[in-house]
Amino acid sequence: SPVSVAIDGPAGAGKSTVAKLVAERLKFLYIDTGAMYRAVAYLCVKENVDCSDTSAVDKLVKEHEFRFEEGRDLGLLVYVDDQDVSAYLRSPDVSERVSLVAALPEVRSRLTQWQRAFAKTHSVVMDGRDIGTVVLPDATVKVFLTANVEERARRRQQEYHERGFDVSLGEIIESMTQRDKLDSERELAPLTSAPDAVHIDSTGKAIDVVVDEIMRLVERAHVR
Ligand code: C5P
Repeated sequence: SPVSVAIDGPAGAGKSTVAKLVAERLKFLYIDTGAMYRAVAYLCVKENVDCSDTSAVDKLVKEHEFRFEEGRDLGLLVYVDDQDVSAYLRSPDVSERVSLVAALPEVRSRLTQWQRAFAKTHSVVMDGRDIGTVVLPDATVKVFLTANVEERARRRQQEYHERGFDVSLGEIIESMTQRDKLDSERELAPLTSAPDAVHIDSTGKAIDVVVDEIMRLVERAHVR
């Protein structure tokens, strides 16, 4: 039966980079659940819908068709109404609003269903905020990945820079801290470690070191 590796943690901890590499080594499917929430926020921005307006966002999610596919470079390809929107999901505009849509019950229940469906049919490495706690409580391996806020902000600044957005470190720290606060304090599926997750602090660690640590956990779970 399919194997699952759940990687949760705050923004900018390096989850997606690490999850992608682990998936590549294991030849598992990589599922970036943040991209799914970002797709909803993107649609709100595009359609001028207030992300905190529950009924308007629910309507939006119902009226548009979402599709998620495995990408060539292992990232998740996200389509809204047959348009590939993957390239628009990591803009500061979307990042600023995503926690609002992620707090809405309808949105969460829909996306959680899709995420579970992937894990039923494929061995997966899935990263997010509630994978080990809510989406896949029986995941084979659970990791809670953290790093100190300065390092997380520096990584995010670099990512933005590569996408053509130049944002100051102060602004990033402020919006990242705000997003983590909203994600941790929401009622539904808050950002928190599963009791049985292995905590890894990636501050000052090379990516490969973290990937190796996770690979050892997977090996120890006897699944390779
Ligand atoms: O991982 P990423 O930074 O792309 O996630 C964007 C946002 O999506 C998070 O800040 C959170 O609000 C939401 N999210 C979530 N549950 C997940 C993954 C992401 O609520 N499993």
